[in-house]
Amino acid sequence: MLPNFTYVRARSEKEAIKHLASEGARIHAGGTDLLGCLRDRVFNAKKIVSISKLDFLHGIRKTAEGGLRIGALTTITEVAQNPIIRNRYNVLSQAASEVASPQLRNQGTIGGNICQKPRCWYYRGEFHCLRKGGDQCFAAEGENQFHCIFGGDMCYIVHPSDTSPALVALGASVRITGKRGNRTVLMEHFHVPPDKDVQKETVLEPDEIVTEIILPVASPALKSSYRKVRARRSWDFALAGVALAIEFDGTTVAKAKVVFSGVAPVPWRSKEVEKSITGKTIDANLAAKAAEEAIKGAEAMGKNAYKIPLLRGVIEEELIAITKL
Ligand SMILES: Cc1cc2nc3c(=O)[nH]c(=O)nc-3n(C[C@H](O)[C@H](O)[C@H](O)COP(=O)(O)OP(=O)(O)OC[C@H]3O[C@@H](n4cnc5c(N)ncnc54)[C@H](O)[C@@H]3O)c2cc1C
Repeated sequence: MLPNFTYVRARSEKEAIKHLASEGARIHAGGTDLLGCLRDRVFNAKKIVSISKLDFLHGIRKTAEGGLRIGALTTITEVAQNPIIRNRYNVLSQAASEVASPQLRNQGTIGGNICQKPRCWYYRGEFHCLRKGGDQCFAAEGENQFHCIFGGDMCYIVHPSDTSPALVALGASVRITGKRGNRTVLMEHFHVPPDKDVQKETVLEPDEIVTEIILPVASPALKSSYRKVRARRSWDFALAGVALAIEFDGTTVAKAKVVFSGVAPVPWRSKEVEKSITGKTIDANLAAKAAEEAIKGAEAMGKNAYKIPLLRGVIEEELIAITKL
């Protein structure tokens, strides 16, 4: 059952920020994650602030520089189906298409997708874990088959969003507004790893709203793709995955961004893989070597060792696949 709360539908940015500044207020966008968290008592809310009537948060437009601006309330379906995103930022279109189910993609927003809470079953369940202010991580010695192999530090969640790794690979940034004004943060720095703060997933302050996501101009030499492996074909979160954004000069890799999903508490950029392919032509041999680099530093927990060869295989296959796009 949902707890009691006050509900307000903000009519302006100023009104939304004013309501969010009150204690225990939470943003409601599509509600597909928020309401589940409230129902399951993952956290509480005294006030729910709907931002659905803030028109400036809707829609996809070109920026003056030739990039793209995606309003935070743009649905995941709209992101997946937008023709410019499909043509120039394929990795984002593919990642959005892999999110959840059609119903959730129609209701869920891109802003909510990058701000959603982790899916760790202890965090979501009746366990007062470290992330909820308790004093231990139950996954460390428990059922950790879906937990991280990189970046775990006291807490071992995996970042749940498919669009976030794609946005990091594309060099996107996030525009934020709040009572202290506006700021822009690179997607790469938007999520907070547990070694920085074990109770926060993003850099957002409670009164802050993500207003839009900015994609930089896409080079004509850019090829990009998203690959996600999950336990079943119907909706499911990534067990391991990769977002690739590679600029080619002929067959040579001129620039590369490689970001893993499903294996770390934040979208996990692999500079090792990027370094191992830059300046080279990707062939089967190089893809296999790069895949070995990908898993350097991975640390298995009791029940998730399978993720290491899984990730290696995903990287090897997707590096070959992108050369054929
Ligand atoms: C069954 C199921 C399967 C799923 N599978 C996947 C999957 O495979 N891949 C995947 O990526 N996701 C998956 N999801 C997550 C789903 O994509 C998210 O629930 C959805 O994207 C959240 O969007 P929303 O607009 O409904 O956000 P809400 O539920 O409204 O909000 C989510 C969180 O973000 C905050 N928030 C929302 N908008 C903003 C904003 N503009 N600024 C600041 N904070 C904000 C809210 O306060 C809340 O904490 C799944 C969810 C479910 C229920």
